[in-house]
Amino acid sequence: MNATSGPTPARHTSLVGWWFVEGSADHQSFRLGQIVGEVVGGMFYMITFQLAQGAEVTYPPPHEVISIVNLNEKCAHCGERLWDLFQTREDRDAYVLMNSQSPNAQPPGAQGAPPPKRVLN
Ligand SMILES: [Zn+2]
Repeated sequence: MNATSGPTPARHTSLVGWWFVEGSADHQSFRLGQIVGEVVGGMFYMITFQLAQGAEVTYPPPHEVISIVNLNEKCAHCGERLWDLFQTREDRDAYVLMNSQSPNAQPPGAQGAPPPKRVLN
């Protein structure tokens, strides 16, 4: 039996337009961006990283083509996904806010919460 003999797979859900948070392998920082294009039927995606707020844009924002395998990458230590995807920028920003609050802003009783992550871009 080969891969082409099975039933026709349902049309895949495109991730184009989704916003992402890419966590670093050590969970200490992350980068923000958006999926802007699809290559080879969803096997690869074109992504763009957000420039820092207020950065003077004298060049196009950096683009990268990454494999769907990378998007599904998990931490080798704890199994946490390194990429978090959000359908709207609002959802993504809410997530970032939640993860980058200073420890002093935590409500009482929140001891043991992880330190805020550093936004790299
Ligand atoms: Zn981990």
